Amino acid sequence: MASSISDVTTGIAGTIGNTPHIVLPKLSAAIGRTIVGKAEFLNPGGSVKDRAALGIITDAERSGRLQPGGTIVEGTAGTTGIALALLANARGYASIIVVPDDQSPEKIAMLTTYGADVRVVPAVPFTNPENYYHVARRIAEETPGAAWSDQFNNTANRNAHYTTTGPEIWKAFGASLTAFIAAAGTGGTLAGTSLYLKERNANVRTVVCDPYGSSLYSHVRCGTLDVEGESNAEGIGIKRITDNFAGAPVDDAIRIDDRTMVEMADWLLREEGLYLGGSASLNVAGAARFARTLPPGSTVVTILCDGGDRYRSKLWNPAWRAENDCTPHATDLSFL
Ligand code: PMP
Repeated sequence: MASSISDVTTGIAGTIGNTPHIVLPKLSAAIGRTIVGKAEFLNPGGSVKDRAALGIITDAERSGRLQPGGTIVEGTAGTTGIALALLANARGYASIIVVPDDQSPEKIAMLTTYGADVRVVPAVPFTNPENYYHVARRIAEETPGAAWSDQFNNTANRNAHYTTTGPEIWKAFGASLTAFIAAAGTGGTLAGTSLYLKERNANVRTVVCDPYGSSLYSHVRCGTLDVEGESNAEGIGIKRITDNFAGAPVDDAIRIDDRTMVEMADWLLREEGLYLGGSASLNVAGAARFARTLPPGSTVVTILCDGGDRYRSKLWNPAWRAENDCTPHATDLSFL
């Protein structure tokens, strides 16, 4: 039988993106609005960050910053590093990945398996020169043939979402799309997708879904960088405005605590058969809460950033939940 073009692709780059949009039937019925998760965990590197990694590498190749046999360097919560390491292997580059030591051991182990040169550094604030971001920049400066991926300020990150994630959502929902909501780490996903969707329809509501311990909620609501509380959510929340986030058309902000994130992670596995990571679970909780403020029948799209398997020792570990006072209790959606 003949294959269509989309059935055959050469190399893993061609399998990044074009992820399904999953209407969550039970959640949508309970809320009276259509809640949709974009299945980014189905990307070949297992997360939404495959898109940013591909965009950044392609841009560095085009500009000549990355030459054949060169080295890609990045400081990352792990997810971007996983995506970069796989693409580096496929394209003949080395990868040096700097990860703070408060991220899940599963992600660090994956990076080692994939052949990255992994440098685990203490998790210290951004203002400390030993923060993973600054360490990665210095390593790139000192390594011959190295290109710093710089996912926070390199806008090839958000451009990847402007040219792929945004158009995919628009193609699937068009004028029926009411709102797009997502948490932000670098801000690439939220900013790039929002920029595209707002261009198509200025009435689409764009919303940041922030964990505690992050400044984006106060930035969008009050124009300040205040921080309240803290969170164990990995890969999301930030206390500064990155070049990727700057200028993004974000209308509103909502904040979700860690207990709600864990309750939603369990509910999604039990009721929708979706085994997801913390940022994806937080996004769905935020989408449901925001959807309630919209007219019945609205459609809200969010991002299912990655799957649950890489958080088995933390989010999905009962002992970790107990230690962090977020053991779920709900048997229904009362936590929303
Ligand atoms: N979820 C996870 C697990 C992540 O690692 C990240 C990025 N660090 C995000 C969500 C947020 O994506 P972005 O960087 O595009 O804001």
